[in-house]
Amino acid sequence: MRNFYDVTITELQDILVRSGQKAYNADQIFKWVYELKVFDFGQMTNISKALREQLAEMFIIKELEIHTVQESSDGTVKYLFKLDDESLIETVLMRNDYGTSVCVTSQVGCNMGCSFCASGLIKKARDLSVYELVSQITSVEQHLSIRITNVVVMGTGEPFDNYDNVMDFIRIINYKQGLQIGSRHITVSTCGIVPKIYQYAKETIKTNLAISLHAANNELRNQLMPINKAYPIEAVLDACKTYFDMTGRRITFEYILLKGVNDNLDQADELSDLIRGINCYVNLIPYNPVLEFKYQKTDISRANEFHQRLLKRGINAILRREQGSDIDAACGQLRYKKENAI
Ligand code: SAH
Repeated sequence: MRNFYDVTITELQDILVRSGQKAYNADQIFKWVYELKVFDFGQMTNISKALREQLAEMFIIKELEIHTVQESSDGTVKYLFKLDDESLIETVLMRNDYGTSVCVTSQVGCNMGCSFCASGLIKKARDLSVYELVSQITSVEQHLSIRITNVVVMGTGEPFDNYDNVMDFIRIINYKQGLQIGSRHITVSTCGIVPKIYQYAKETIKTNLAISLHAANNELRNQLMPINKAYPIEAVLDACKTYFDMTGRRITFEYILLKGVNDNLDQADELSDLIRGINCYVNLIPYNPVLEFKYQKTDISRANEFHQRLLKRGINAILRREQGSDIDAACGQLRYKKENAI
């Protein structure tokens, strides 16, 4: 039987029409499931008994199994979910003044091989299904009895390497009769898979795009991120310009500060020159050390200088605060650790 979380509203409408029902029932069903959290089709009192029975034969509504929950002193909560095939994935909930954000994982492992990121230490086993993406949100909502207001697809995996499922996930969580997470509150982060950026720019739902940049020239970016050899910086930036022209959405460039690698002030100047003219802002990310890698975190004084230098050169930039670093939930630390499985 299919998990209900796998179907988009248009697909559900098609299924209903094909089985002699009315398309508008789809809205009612979405509302029961996503808004009212009613998982028993039998209780959906405003639809016909025949349809209720039909739905119960077609779908189950089941959340991902929560394997472990860790809570940080700053309120960040990390979930380890166990999938039907026993794979483990991580999802992080962050509480901010503006609401609650969930950082969603898009694949089991990752093949992008960025030299600083813990996620890539485990090779990609498979893409997550639509239901496995959606249930990362709905499980957290149920577990903490809260509503999620913001979603970032920045967990383990490369979302544009699982493009179709990620887009269906976005359509479902954005739907007005469902979770209603606004398109301006949804961000997808990519290491820079250029053809997918163009495809993403054409989507009807206009969500935010974040690019993991981390270096201002190809020589350095090739060392840090193997994907740069396939899609060099110029190609990524051209795609970003098109993305802005087509969507009107400002791009976020993520830039991890790595001590002695990309954090000197000349490099801040180089970065400013590179992205000047693009409607964007830079998110400076303090590096979270990963045991297996040699990189070190930039000192806070240098991070502040780097930040100020970008501002002085007319670039919008923020220095991101760390969340959940005491539970290995900070960026780049999402990975399955054996001790969590015990
Ligand atoms: N594959 C996507 C999404 C996952 S990475 C992408 O590359 O954008 C999400 C963000 O975490 C990226 O900007 C990534 O570069 C950053 N990140 C990875 N490892 C990190 C680490 N050790 N410390 C801080 N940020 C890290």
